[in-house]
Amino acid sequence: MKKYSIIGILLLTVCILSGCKTTDNNPITRQTILFDTIIQIRIYDSNATNILDGCIEKCQYYENLFSRTVEGSDIYRINHADGAPVEVHPETIALLETALSYCELSDGAFDITLAPVSDLWDFQNNTGSFPNSDQLQKCLESVGYQAICINGNTVQIANPDTQIDLGAIAKGYIADQLKLYLKENGVNHALIDLGGNILTIGGKPDGSKYNIAIQKPFDEQGTPITTVKTTDDSVVTSGIYQRYVEIDRKVYHHILNPRTGYPYDNSLYSVTIISDSSTTADALSTTCFAMGLEDGLELINSLDHTEAIFITDNYELIYSDGLSK
Ligand code: AMP
Ligand code: MG
Repeated sequence: MKKYSIIGILLLTVCILSGCKTTDNNPITRQTILFDTIIQIRIYDSNATNILDGCIEKCQYYENLFSRTVEGSDIYRINHADGAPVEVHPETIALLETALSYCELSDGAFDITLAPVSDLWDFQNNTGSFPNSDQLQKCLESVGYQAICINGNTVQIANPDTQIDLGAIAKGYIADQLKLYLKENGVNHALIDLGGNILTIGGKPDGSKYNIAIQKPFDEQGTPITTVKTTDDSVVTSGIYQRYVEIDRKVYHHILNPRTGYPYDNSLYSVTIISDSSTTADALSTTCFAMGLEDGLELINSLDHTEAIFITDNYELIYSDGLSK
């Protein structure tokens, strides 16, 4: 049933190989920086640049709902409510509920309340130091998705120190919404890339599939380790090679264990998920990384229409059942 065919070689962040070239069909493309990353929308079957404008507006709209740092966003208001109930947009409720389902599915390995711990590590600016252990212990006390209570369109966090961060799932959700918007506007061939979080619409106009490259961890950006050919699917990778700090020659990356406050140390370099839903792919890539190879693979093999490629720290590629030769 191979919907996806894997052309072997090894790789790092997700990039698009053939999708990056202008073709005879003259795709239109918009690239900008949003969500702390480079995003790109490419449409193959329309010249209507106003549709690209609409995509960027949608991205900004969702950033203003889901960002933890944009003052007045739904998530910002929940995080700064000191335990009081906060009414939010139904889409925020829907995304929170989906995110919480992965927290439960993974028995807390995936947890959307790690923000204070992530802040302590400060991966963006960290030049090589561990967080202060007293502060880390204090922050860990506020971690726990169970404190989030949803009632209708209202969200309340029982522990006022607990903070929500949807960074592990929001880009997937936004990509899915962009796809809906593009299809509503008559687009049938397009590629959405939200910082390596890829979602395709149809195939290319000539009938060929998109060729999505999976980055070889720690190699030069754009060096693939393998590629995935796909139509109408999302390909999302969670890896340790982009956001990390190196201390005493060891990599401390951004996917954290809620039980210790330290990065997961599980012999994995990355997990790529392929699913028709980008929300699912984004949530599952982080979740499977957090669960580790054995449990993560078992989870993927139990799900329909969902495949995975795990890359280990010796560059071995391990495929879910649907991708295995
Ligand atoms: P992703 O790149 O989709 O795997 O998401 C990683 C982001 O999710 C990090 O930058 C953190 O903001 C957040 N995060 C870190 N560790 C976890 C975890 N164990 N569960 C859920 N989110 C996490
Ligand atoms: Mg994710």
